[in-house]
Amino acid sequence: MSAPVVIIGAGLAGWTAARELRKLSAELPITLITADSGDFYAKPSLSNALALKKSPAQLVNTPAAQMATQVGVQLLAHTRVSGIDRAAKQVMTSSGAIPYAQLVLATGAQPIRLPLAGSAAHRALSVNSLSDYTAFSYELLKKSANHRHRISAECSQINSDREIASHRILIIGAGLIGCEFANDLAAAGHVVSVADPAPRVLAALLPEAASAALQEALAKLGVVWKLGASVQRLDETQEGLITATLSSGELMEADIVLSAIGLRPDVSLAQTAELATERGILVNAHLQTSDDAIYALGDGAQYAQQSLKSASRPLPYVLPIMQAAKVLAANIVAQRDDAALKSLCFPVMPVAIKTPALPLLIHPPAPGESGSWQTIAENEWQWLDAQGALKGFALAGAATSARAKWVKALEAAEE
Ligand code: FAD
Repeated sequence: MSAPVVIIGAGLAGWTAARELRKLSAELPITLITADSGDFYAKPSLSNALALKKSPAQLVNTPAAQMATQVGVQLLAHTRVSGIDRAAKQVMTSSGAIPYAQLVLATGAQPIRLPLAGSAAHRALSVNSLSDYTAFSYELLKKSANHRHRISAECSQINSDREIASHRILIIGAGLIGCEFANDLAAAGHVVSVADPAPRVLAALLPEAASAALQEALAKLGVVWKLGASVQRLDETQEGLITATLSSGELMEADIVLSAIGLRPDVSLAQTAELATERGILVNAHLQTSDDAIYALGDGAQYAQQSLKSASRPLPYVLPIMQAAKVLAANIVAQRDDAALKSLCFPVMPVAIKTPALPLLIHPPAPGESGSWQTIAENEWQWLDAQGALKGFALAGAATSARAKWVKALEAAEE
């Protein structure tokens, strides 16, 4: 039997690549190896699940075994890949070596950890996976245990109709994920503070007026902003609470600290295999790494300039995964010669920021471009480069319905 296509990772990238491959070939042997359970879930739902009282189990769209049958893959769950032998075309796992015909790296990104001082530094949680969400939900419930709440011994069995007491939660980071969690946790009844050294929220992605509108909308929900201040240390109090020391000298007490300062592509496996990496695993427009039998996509990949029409960079969102998986699958299945391989060219893909207090839709300019934001109408902004070309837009509230108009305008500007 011929060696399978091996996919490492069961996030949206891994499963979507498997599905796209299966659409193109009923016979192709596919093995999917993942360090986690392999359950299929939509990661974006992690930052708006608490207000909806969703338990971790309720966030699973399709359990791993069912997904494996549906897609027709051999699934090796709870199996970590520790190395790639490129010469022998096999991956090393905790269950032995597995040969591959082609390999797909869909290993995602890891939360950036702040180098915090203090006895409670280790208690800053991050939420970048279903198991992180389980741990976070468990922490919320544990803190409620002195009230009248029942905690199941099994985290995954957390009762969905639970009531969680209100906690003081400090979020570190006022970026996209920090703001979404701030909205979700405040709507779920918690007392939320957000600290960030930037003077305004989502400073890198939004015009000033949109930042101000989002700050105000979340403040109405009770979110307290600690902007222009970084968290320097976390210390445990005698009662088991956390005292945060901000750079302003202010001390804040919190029950739980959530770190949301960003993600870094996980390049560890690629680096041990001596594949080319920069910020992420470098891929060309065909989604091949520096070894043309090894492909990469998702949060771990750094896409080519040719795909982006701007400088090569990671694109850690869902829509790029959907686009990349199609091209990757076509290239693996067809195994064409180089000249006939399909090239990925991303369309305009705005990102929705899931803050129901003020929904936002953004298409920021590529990092490093010079230009400025201009107000077009209430809650509608465009970003023009130094030559006056349209390179981005931001829409807030009811104006998000103008999505199609702005996508079209940006597409026209890119031609
Ligand atoms: P991951 O989901 O991180 O999957 C990586 C997989 O690799 C895991 O299964 C892991 O176990 C496995 N793995 C890693 N190393 C190994 C190894 N050595 N051996 C075996 N397995 C390994 N994007 C949007 O477009 N819109 C949104 O609204 C949005 N909201 C978000 C909200 C939150 C809270 C977060 C965290 C992200 C959000 N995103 C959003 C981003 C989006 O969810 C990600 O871009 C996407 O889920 C990344 O999928 P992935 O498969 O690349 O990575």
